[in-house]
Amino acid sequence: MENFLEKTLNIAKQTYKNWNYPIWAFLLIDDKFEIEWQNQVVTENNHRLHAEIDIINKSQIYKWNVNKKILYVTMEPCNNCAKALVEFWIDEVYYILEDPSWWWKNILENAWIKTEQIKYKYDEYLNLIIEFMQKHWWYNEVLTQYISIKNNWENLYQKQLDLFIEKNFINISKELSDYKTRKIIYNNTLHYLKNAFLRTPEDKHQLVLNWYVADTNKLIKFIDENFINKDFEKLEISFIKWLHKNLFPEWFIAKSKDVNWKEFIQMIPWEFRKINLQSKTNPNKNIYLQFQSIEKNFEIFINNFNKTFFNIDDILLFASDFSRIHPFWDGNGRTLDILVDLLLLKNWLNPLFLWELKQNDEIWFYKILDKVYETRDVKLFYDFIENHKNN
Ligand SMILES: [Zn+2]
Repeated sequence: MENFLEKTLNIAKQTYKNWNYPIWAFLLIDDKFEIEWQNQVVTENNHRLHAEIDIINKSQIYKWNVNKKILYVTMEPCNNCAKALVEFWIDEVYYILEDPSWWWKNILENAWIKTEQIKYKYDEYLNLIIEFMQKHWWYNEVLTQYISIKNNWENLYQKQLDLFIEKNFINISKELSDYKTRKIIYNNTLHYLKNAFLRTPEDKHQLVLNWYVADTNKLIKFIDENFINKDFEKLEISFIKWLHKNLFPEWFIAKSKDVNWKEFIQMIPWEFRKINLQSKTNPNKNIYLQFQSIEKNFEIFINNFNKTFFNIDDILLFASDFSRIHPFWDGNGRTLDILVDLLLLKNWLNPLFLWELKQNDEIWFYKILDKVYETRDVKLFYDFIENHKNN
């Protein structure tokens, strides 16, 4: 193994001299074929050209599980690469340096792929990455953390952030009149705050915090006035739409560019989507409702729910059906996680804090949503809750 890591490390150093992002990956197939490739984000000016993705593209003939595939890479694979590696049926992944902001290796581990950090010449590679980031300021969003690891032998920077968040948002007083709504909203949004902190310089943190507090207070007030402190007769579509709207900053509009680089409006919060979406977790990608049918079917869906809503099973079925309709372009997960907890709360049940629960095994959670949709049997859901509620 050290042989292969030495190889990737050496070419990463070579790459650094040529001014590219020093990340190399090395794929070993059936213990004999070797394929190596590098990150080309800088030279090709394309943020998707990660070493792992390129290697997978070059090795499609080995995709099936009959071939044994081991990946050695200098840096922990990112979110997209980890998902692509799962689909590629990779068997084992070894890396030298961790990505300090995320734990994407969970994606690999959740798919039962052996994933291990081998701190082979760790300091040498850490220094190389730090030097690279210091020279390329636009890639330096995690630089503070790497420097903290270098100076303290652990990521003290992130520890301090965690303590700050815990003190101010997680351990909030139960005496607060809006305590439960607050907990539900923080549960769904604190990872955005932490992400923003981790990826902005420290002198901007107060500003980030101010916006977070303003936005969450707006959302909490909206929910308390329009749901919690109101007699619950039925779930209103308008409430769901406004909940979605309130998840985004006031004037937020998502824009994108089409194939001709012409700008178009992808989403205005509150509106149902006007574009077809594909599932990232279901191999049969076209599981979401065609956008033309959303308006009508969503109304039928909510009317049925209001007629049949009786117990916790109905709320869990609601979650799986909502996920299939996927009414919005973005923010469906957040809207649903909050809605489920609010419905439970309104029925004198404890919130599940669904966002946090899901993190235990997101891929499996979405598989369960699909299974429940097909079988109408919520047992798998209960198993998931049972297995993870104390974690
Ligand atoms: Zn990647």
